[in-house]
Amino acid sequence: MSESTELDKTRRYLRPVQATIISDDPNGVHLAVYEWLPMFDAWATGPGICGESMKQGTLPDGTAVTCARCLEWQPKYERMLAPGYRPEDDDPDVLRRRVEAAEKLNEAHLKVEHRLAMEAQTAEAAIARVRDVLEELKAQGATGMQFYSRVLDALEEPKRRTR
Ligand SMILES: [Zn+2]
Repeated sequence: MSESTELDKTRRYLRPVQATIISDDPNGVHLAVYEWLPMFDAWATGPGICGESMKQGTLPDGTAVTCARCLEWQPKYERMLAPGYRPEDDDPDVLRRRVEAAEKLNEAHLKVEHRLAMEAQTAEAAIARVRDVLEELKAQGATGMQFYSRVLDALEEPKRRTR
């Protein structure tokens, strides 16, 4: 089998295989997982992905598969055998938990954003008020303690309003 030398021994492949003589259709062509077995130092095929026992060894690549159940399972197996596949991606519970976690995180973000917006409003109101008071004091030519106490009052005012 020349193709064996080109295959990645850490990966598993899907290959056409032949049914056994005890099959309802001994000429049937199915799909099986083809993997490297270090214990035997050889590539080997398993049972058909439909669950039926198969003859050992692959048929030439591209041999038409005749088993409807194998063809039905083929897309799922191809996804599972692709490099980088994570088993949890096919687990609906894992996917549901991931969505829930994302929703909770989003909710927490919205709460923080809301609080920051409220604080920004308070700060803006304080700055605006201080600006008004400073303009007023400047016009009056105020100095010393009068100046400081008026500015401090202006800073406190928006805080009192939001309470
Ligand atoms: Zn099959």
